[in-house]
Amino acid sequence: MKALVYEDVNRIALKDMPRPRLEDDEDAVVRATATTICGTDIHLVNGKTPQMRPGQILGHEMVGVVEEVGDKVANFAPGDRVVVPSTIACGRCSMCRQGEFAHCLTVLGGETAFFGGPETAGGFAGLQAEFARIPFADVGMLKIPDDVDDDAALSLSDIFPTAYFAVDNAQVSDGESVAVFGCGPVGLYAVLSAATRGAIPIFAIDREPERLELAARFPEVKVIDFTRDDPVEVIGRETGSGADVVIDCVGMEATDASGRPQPSAAQMYALRCVRHTGVISIVGLYGELESYPLGQLVSKNLSVVAGNCNHRAYLAELLDYIRAHSKDGKFVWSHRLPFGQIERAYDMFINKKDGMVKPLLTM
Ligand SMILES: [Zn+2]
Ligand SMILES: [Zn+2]
Repeated sequence: MKALVYEDVNRIALKDMPRPRLEDDEDAVVRATATTICGTDIHLVNGKTPQMRPGQILGHEMVGVVEEVGDKVANFAPGDRVVVPSTIACGRCSMCRQGEFAHCLTVLGGETAFFGGPETAGGFAGLQAEFARIPFADVGMLKIPDDVDDDAALSLSDIFPTAYFAVDNAQVSDGESVAVFGCGPVGLYAVLSAATRGAIPIFAIDREPERLELAARFPEVKVIDFTRDDPVEVIGRETGSGADVVIDCVGMEATDASGRPQPSAAQMYALRCVRHTGVISIVGLYGELESYPLGQLVSKNLSVVAGNCNHRAYLAELLDYIRAHSKDGKFVWSHRLPFGQIERAYDMFINKKDGMVKPLLTM
């Protein structure tokens, strides 16, 4: 089968790889019908996340059709259309039973396990492949109803649940003001998720015109190009107090307003844009920052919530949502390309060529 393989820092290749087989009674093998590229993949490829093993298949978002199931898989049969959530969990340990699937004790003793990641994330073969082995298949897949197409279902693999988790973690409620830093795919879904909770106004902050244009489709949204306007000033003026909630979908690959890399830029904005006693919710990826102004957290009485998404905890609810609002399941797909062009899609995605927001790669 064809799969996208990590070879070395900044070197990937679409290669022939052995087709995965059932290795455990609880596994399924899925034939992909569509996959995509995520910002996380870029961190893995560019060496920002160490411990990637050469030969590892990348990717953690997939929809497909079940080919084979192990003897102990009860909920699925060959031929079922499924979406595969990015993280891997057993579904029955004490953490999974509390809905904390990203910290399953069985798979990695509490560390987050995900497809196509480094050894520290379990080293599981990724989903940018024609076939994939899905461990703990009964909780590791969600059936796609006939009236939901692949384009919409693929948003449930990672971006929509991750964004919804950020909003849910901050307990965003009706009438609250929310500032979303970073309007990539997760940020755009954070805007959507905040809107579904009744947040108003929602500030969407980025520098890429294509992303801001997509954010502007929501009536509650005021877009801010931070290279032109200062978010601190705009949000302060519009809210009087600062935003009730700031959501950081940027992480450490941030730039300042002049375009220079500055890993703490999004957090510095968050601290200044949030109101006293407000909440900062972080789903952007961070390594270690050298310094963080803890004093500002204390003096503003802030709460910080952060973490890896518990995808499974939200899948049923979000599937219902995209069934009722099918356009919202697919508004971020800026390009549709055949899977055979995934290397080109990586280049376009990394370098934001041709206004790429997120590519849908079909088999
Ligand atoms: Zn992702
Ligand atoms: Zn578990």
